[in-house]
Amino acid sequence: MNNDFNIIWLRNDLRLHDNPAFELANQSGLPISVVFIVPEFWLDADASTPFSYPESYLNTSGLVRISKPKARFLRASLIDLQRQLYRQNIQLQMVYGDPVSLFAQWQQQGLQQVFTQQAQAPEENYWLNAIRQQGTDLTTYNNQTLFSEAQLQDAGLSLTAGQWPDSFSGFRRRVEKHLNADLIKANPPVALTVDDYDLQDHDLQGHALQNRSSQRYPSVPWPTDFSGQNDHLPSSRFNLPGGEDNGLARLSAYIWQYDGLNRYKTTRNQLTGQNFSSFFSAYLAWGCLSAKRVLQEIRYFEHELQANEHSQWLYFELLWREYFHWSMRIHGREYFRYSGLAQHNHFQPAPINPQHWQAWNNATTGVPMIDAGLKELIHSGYCSNRMRQNLASYFIHELQLDWRLGAQFFEQHLIDFDVAINWGNWAYLAGVGNDPQHHPDSAQKTPGGQAQGRWFSMNKQLQQYDPQLHHIHQWLPELSGQDLAQVQAHSCGQQTLAHYPAPVMPVAIS
Ligand SMILES: Cc1cc2nc3c(=O)[nH]c(=O)nc-3n(C[C@H](O)[C@H](O)[C@H](O)COP(=O)(O)OP(=O)(O)OC[C@H]3O[C@@H](n4cnc5c(N)ncnc54)[C@H](O)[C@@H]3O)c2cc1C
Repeated sequence: MNNDFNIIWLRNDLRLHDNPAFELANQSGLPISVVFIVPEFWLDADASTPFSYPESYLNTSGLVRISKPKARFLRASLIDLQRQLYRQNIQLQMVYGDPVSLFAQWQQQGLQQVFTQQAQAPEENYWLNAIRQQGTDLTTYNNQTLFSEAQLQDAGLSLTAGQWPDSFSGFRRRVEKHLNADLIKANPPVALTVDDYDLQDHDLQGHALQNRSSQRYPSVPWPTDFSGQNDHLPSSRFNLPGGEDNGLARLSAYIWQYDGLNRYKTTRNQLTGQNFSSFFSAYLAWGCLSAKRVLQEIRYFEHELQANEHSQWLYFELLWREYFHWSMRIHGREYFRYSGLAQHNHFQPAPINPQHWQAWNNATTGVPMIDAGLKELIHSGYCSNRMRQNLASYFIHELQLDWRLGAQFFEQHLIDFDVAINWGNWAYLAGVGNDPQHHPDSAQKTPGGQAQGRWFSMNKQLQQYDPQLHHIHQWLPELSGQDLAQVQAHSCGQQTLAHYPAPVMPVAIS
């Protein structure tokens, strides 16, 4: 009996469009299993991984990889995918476990070939290498970025650490001069024409099970306490459902219904609202939307109406994404060191201040702008780019905690967590990432006297981006009677409010 089968292993490409896996599976002709693996350590804070840090507090922070809002978005994306695959008579197999051991098992069972996307970061690189070393035939492709490796090389960009531009502007100049983004097109979906191979229906030797009395694989212990969790939350928050269909609908709605490309540059720094920015990030992060598909729609808008500063700015942000994605592939593990991409080791982490860390975790730092941002992040899994910058600045420069702990915290909570963008932005703000010197704020000193990194004055930011305190009042209703001057005076410790915690670290007056 022939038990041969192939696997499509989907990771951050939960979509049918612009996904080479399906065409490759059809070409091979063997029955296919379409698999999504939830690694154990995503949900188990104590699980050990081959990626422990030298600093034990980073391994024992109690953080997991998936919060409830993040799990909800992911599950919706998987359910959507399952629905779409069903129409092709294929089941999506959701498996909980260690990817490397699972592939070893499936190889015994008759697995011939695996189709999966290239690794984005060291952890996935480790999986792919370990699976290859077990003798599994892996075919990988890049379906994450706008440009291919060959296109970047044609533009004179070398993908090696010493030669890769260390600033975004250097990267952007080359791309804009040498690459034609108008030619980028996302491939349409390809229906699977091969048979379904159900992993649950076969024993470890690959024999079909006559009586499938119990599940072969443990079900995923999702953090499922979703019921009613949002009842008390502000209605104006990120609340879009996951999935390819919803991602494509959001793409169309933002551009054509909400007129986003005639407003984006003006509104993108707002803290509240439902359309101030595209809200494509979670769809891009899980791959429900391909970046190429987004760019194609921007170009179509420009062709039908006209290119303007807003449409160009959104493309510019996609280039930031592109830059971080390639930087992560090039620098890999360096991004996870305290000294980041810095060539020297001058930066040493200070011991963790438990009071500061606890206040951050509980969203009770006593600085209302920060607490409101943390509440939004924890409860909705999202906050604006402006808020993320402020949170990271306060964490790094005022609380003076190890920036990687902050990056891990974001990783747990952000529904749009993207390893390259998240770690890239945190390292950038900590002054150990790309572009460490040449930025307009580099001469700025934090109150602690640190010069490296980007520091923002919270009271100034509040005045500029939330003078009416809409965001604070939304997330901290107990401060609904307070105005800007009172919140600023409280935040810098000048005149604290009786009914709100005093700041654990007061911010600068202005
Ligand atoms: C400390 C910190 C951590 C962050 N972590 C993440 C993360 O894990 N995942 C993530 O997608 N974004 C992250 N960002 C970038 C940015 O905040 C979000 O992409 C954006 O807020 C998502 O909302 P949007 O899709 O409406 O963005 P828009 O403003 O509409 O931008 C469109 C797209 O461009 C890309 N983009 C926007 N801003 C950036 C940026 N600063 N760097 C790289 N790409 C960008 C994203 O793919 C985004 O979806 C982080 C920013 C900071 C400061």
